[in-house]
Order: sequence, then C-alpha cells, then structure tokens
Amino acid sequence: MPTSAAKSPQPPLAEGHEQVRVRFAPNGEMPCPAFITRTVLYSWLFARHYGGTFILRLDDTDVDRQTPGTLQSYPDALRWLGLHWDEGPEVGGGFGPYRQSERLHLYREAVETLLASGHAYRCYCSPGRLAEVAAAARRPGSRHRAYDGRCRQPARADIEAAARENRAPAIRLRVPDSGAITSIDLLRGPVTVPVSQLSDFVICRPDGWPTYHLTVVVDDSLMRISHVIRGIEGLSNMAPQAVMHRALGLEPPLYLHHPLVRTPGFTIGDRFLPTGDLLYVDELRRAGTPPQAVVNYYGLLGYGDGDSREIRTLDEMVEGFDYTRISRKEFVNQSLPKLAWMTRTYLRSAAPTGFVEEIITERLTGAGVSRQAAERLACRAAPVLRTRLSDADEILDLLDFAVRDPRGRSQEPEAALWAKAAVAALADGEDLVATAKELAGGDRDAYGRITRALLAMLGASGTRLPLRDCVAVLGRDEALRRWRRHAA
Ligand code: GLU
Repeated sequence: MPTSAAKSPQPPLAEGHEQVRVRFAPNGEMPCPAFITRTVLYSWLFARHYGGTFILRLDDTDVDRQTPGTLQSYPDALRWLGLHWDEGPEVGGGFGPYRQSERLHLYREAVETLLASGHAYRCYCSPGRLAEVAAAARRPGSRHRAYDGRCRQPARADIEAAARENRAPAIRLRVPDSGAITSIDLLRGPVTVPVSQLSDFVICRPDGWPTYHLTVVVDDSLMRISHVIRGIEGLSNMAPQAVMHRALGLEPPLYLHHPLVRTPGFTIGDRFLPTGDLLYVDELRRAGTPPQAVVNYYGLLGYGDGDSREIRTLDEMVEGFDYTRISRKEFVNQSLPKLAWMTRTYLRSAAPTGFVEEIITERLTGAGVSRQAAERLACRAAPVLRTRLSDADEILDLLDFAVRDPRGRSQEPEAALWAKAAVAALADGEDLVATAKELAGGDRDAYGRITRALLAMLGASGTRLPLRDCVAVLGRDEALRRWRRHAA
C-alpha cells in the first residue's frame, strides 16, 4: 500500500513531478536472476522510504531480448521476496494496463504524433545498406554515425525499391543536428552527451513493432514515473530517451544507475549476457533459502551507509534507506560464500519461526511423507534443526532416522539396561544427559559408549544431532517406544 505520509523529506524530483512513483520493469530476457533483487529492492525501498508508489510493469514488447515464458518468474520472485507492488499486473491501478503488449495502441499514437510533428520519419533503407552503414560506423577512428540519416529526405528510388521488394519502412526518430543532451543521474549528477554520438534510431520496426526506447519513454511518462532505478548498462540509454522525451514534449524522469553485479561466468560485451552459471531466484527458493536472507544480502551489496549491522529487516532497510550510499562503481562482486553465510544466519535465527517449519514440511512431503506427519515432525524438528542447518538440503539427511525408523541395535552388552534406564528417566521427565552421566559413573569413555548405544537404539547412529535433540525430534512417545523395544 502506498503510505500516505512521506517518511523522509522528498528526494529531488524532475519538473512536473510531485509524487515519488518508481517502477520495476523487467523484459523477461531470462528467468528472474538473483542479482535483479537489487534493482527491485532499490526501487522498492526508494518508493517506501519516501512514501511513494512502487509499480511493476511487464515490458514484454522487447522482442529481441525476450525468452518466451520467463516473464512470469518476475512477479513470482517479487511475491516470494516480499516486495509487493502497489500498481501492476494482478493488482491493477490507475495507469494500466501494466503489460506492454496491451498498450500497443499507445505506442502507435506516439509514433503518429512524432511523424506528424516531423520528429520521426520513415526509413526505406534496405537491411543490406543498413548493415554497411553500421559496419562503417564501427570501424576504428570512424566519424560516421550508426545511421547516416539518408531517409530524412527519402529518395524516390529507395521508396520504389522497398515497394518492389515488399519491404515496409521502419520509423526513425530524428536526433537534433547539433548540441548536447544533458540528463540527470542521481548518483552522478548531470551527464552530458554530444548529439554527434547519437544517430537517428528506430522507434518502430518494419513489422510495426515498437522498440525499447519508444515503449519505456511512453510508459514512464504516461505512468508518471518520477525516478527510474536501473543497472548501469542503462546509462547510455539516458540520452536517446531524453531526445524521445523532448520530441514528445515530455519531461524525463530522474535516473539512478547502480553498479552491475559481477557473477562468475558472465561476460560483458555491448550487452550484458549470461554465459555461464547464473543464480536464479527460483533456484534459491527451491534450495530453501529464506527470502529475507536474499533481500538482506542483495540490499547491502554495493551499498555502504557506515552502519555495521549486517542483518537488517526490511523495515530497518526502509527506514534507513539513503540512495546516495549506493556505490558509483561499475561493478560489485557477488560473493556466494557471503550469501551462504547470510542463509545460515537466517535459517539459524533471523528467519521467522514458521519459515523453517515450512521448509522442513516441504522437504519431507517431497520425500513422500504424508502432509500431516510432515507437519507434526516439522513442528518438533524446527527449533532443533534451525540452530544446525547450513542449508536446507541437509534436512532430509538429519531427519532420516525419524522418518524411516531404521530399528537400530547396539552391540554393547549393557544396552538393554541402559535402554531401561533411559525409558525410566524419560517417563519421569528426568534429564537424559544427567541419567547417562550417572550410569557412566563419571567415566567419560563409558558416557560416550552409553550415549552412542542409546542413539543406536533410536535408529540414530552416526547422526550429527546430540541425544537430547534426537529425542526432541522424535517426540517423547516415539523415543520411549523405540527404547522399550530394547529394554530388558
Ligand atoms: N524494460 C527495461 C529493461 O528491462 C527497463 C529498464 C530500463 O529503463 O531500461 O531493460
């Protein structure tokens, strides 16, 4: 829910904006990767900290960068991370629809407006010619632009050739001939780009499909987005998007570009592409990672506010969020050991109690235990296991003895006597460790033999759990039942 009263003084706002409205707008290039948590989180924290609105928009028109079926993983990830949106798919809002493929008429209108005002023109150049011009522009030392503007005054021959070859024209935006474009990045201040570095770019493809620059500008403006928070790869998009805003007579939002997360297996080219192992949010979810650990880890990655607390709740993050503390570097390195540490910390203490129980139940039912039995066992096991878990994959191993009842035996000659003493102690509510110590008569070796024998008779030989914890996991009645089988 948008909070009515701002929690802090307003951040800088662009002309024409009075309210903080921040969007997260995935394009579905890949299933939601874990590092995206940072982009979402900064946007979400920014909105929450300033009492603004957080919007989820699905940018599903970016056909060149889209992998079919991946976009739904983003709302799923946000929900799992607990980063709920005020406007967007499923929840609606006053500026919808929030899926770009349902907004095509708006982009078409913008294109018509730009054509009518002379800011855009039809380009009849053949793909072959465009490839040559682009190649010439890429040659070292070249002064050519990526497109040379030939169709600003289209030649009749070009129009006729396109008609003969049944090629529809693309539509390009006319970039100013001279001067420079200045945009504001909240971390870097004004960023100025001479227009000589830009060239007339396509806003609508020959197949009628709008391009990325057109759709984000139209949507950011119609949705009254005040701040765009995105990865540093978006920095070079500020200038063309500013040209587009100007051409439409609109005021651009303010931008904040945060560093990229460097992950082993990634290469950086003119685009940012995964080439190796990438961590996905869904993978973390399936591994039993507490979502709070993921949010906490990525929230502090490349964010230094001088506060040494490494474990922070979402509320604390909202309260203390200061966007000026986001690193201005190009990259920050993701540390998987640190994420594992955070996971351990949350499993052991910081995650809500119910979370560990749920994870245990999920694992047990996944291994064929009935839901009812799994929930009962999880309820007993959660307080014991959470102090020992490093990751959720250990759960089945640790609980195997409780689930399977392996009917273990002990080779010790006195095993039956010890079982009897344990039954008596447990039935009377006495402390088992004290009982074992008493039986051992102060002899440490004997104490070891006794506890090992008692564990063996519970079917828990070789477990990492100490005697008291094994009994807690089994429950008093089951432990009594197992020992009674051996008691003389
Ligand atoms: N749909 C855009 C993307 O994912 C949003 C970020 C931006 O403004 O570039 O690339």
